[in-house]
Amino acid sequence: MKHTRHNTAPADGDARKSIRPVICYPVDTLPKPEMHLYTAARKTMKLVDTVIVAPREASVFRVPAGHFFRIVSVEGAQVGDLNLWSEGDLNERFYSGKTRALHGTHLSTGDRMWSSFPHLRPMATITWDTLDWYGFDSDGGSVHDVIGTRCDPYTHHLLSGQDYHHCCHSNLTRALAAETGLSLQQAETHVHDVLNVFMCTGFTRDSHQYFMKASPVRPGDYLEFFAEIDLLGALSACPGGDCSAEHSSDTAACYPLHVEIYKPDQTLLEGWCSPEPSGYSGSHGERPGC
Ligand SMILES: [Zn+2]
Repeated sequence: MKHTRHNTAPADGDARKSIRPVICYPVDTLPKPEMHLYTAARKTMKLVDTVIVAPREASVFRVPAGHFFRIVSVEGAQVGDLNLWSEGDLNERFYSGKTRALHGTHLSTGDRMWSSFPHLRPMATITWDTLDWYGFDSDGGSVHDVIGTRCDPYTHHLLSGQDYHHCCHSNLTRALAAETGLSLQQAETHVHDVLNVFMCTGFTRDSHQYFMKASPVRPGDYLEFFAEIDLLGALSACPGGDCSAEHSSDTAACYPLHVEIYKPDQTLLEGWCSPEPSGYSGSHGERPGC
């Protein structure tokens, strides 16, 4: 147990604790992805570009709306930290926390990566996951989480007093700066909490702390997405490698990752429309004239 308990439970403590939970966001009314369209389209798709992400570095890639992209394991077990932005507006970025609230702690086929306020629309939909067989293990671990943030030099310095420059946060910052011409300081403000691709994580049963264990990913595995809007992406090959022991150092064995961009037969996507930003008025209750 992590916390010392200072208070004894009240007489009805057990009764209060035994109340059944309710799902915060029932997703019955969440617009469903048209998976049958994606399933038909992905059968026709052709590889149009491959971006290589070097170990302990990040690379940027662009995916037009209506295309697919895959993050592919090559050479060895390797975890990737993914950031997504709207191609034309860096202020619209992947919103890990709301995606977690809507879809749960780990993503797989049919789940979507949602964008930040005031947009809140699907940026990408997961269309295939070769690791979907993993489910949840006996430790409560699973793959592709939206509970971690990204390894970063600030937390590393806080905990160890050391400087390390190839954390995913820094890798993503350098890659975005090089692509956009922004300074490192400007680019850093656009780097955000990631989708931890291939990473195996959970919360310990006793102390409920965030844990990681060796990724089950093997060369040939991939996570595939459909781009709902024009995307700018950045992927870091985490210095933790398979994240079996530690990150934020040069100790772990690290391997490259590939990002493959695919173009499907667009006629098979008839009926699909790139999603509009949120329909909320944005007034926040302010009355006209106030
Ligand atoms: Zn990392």
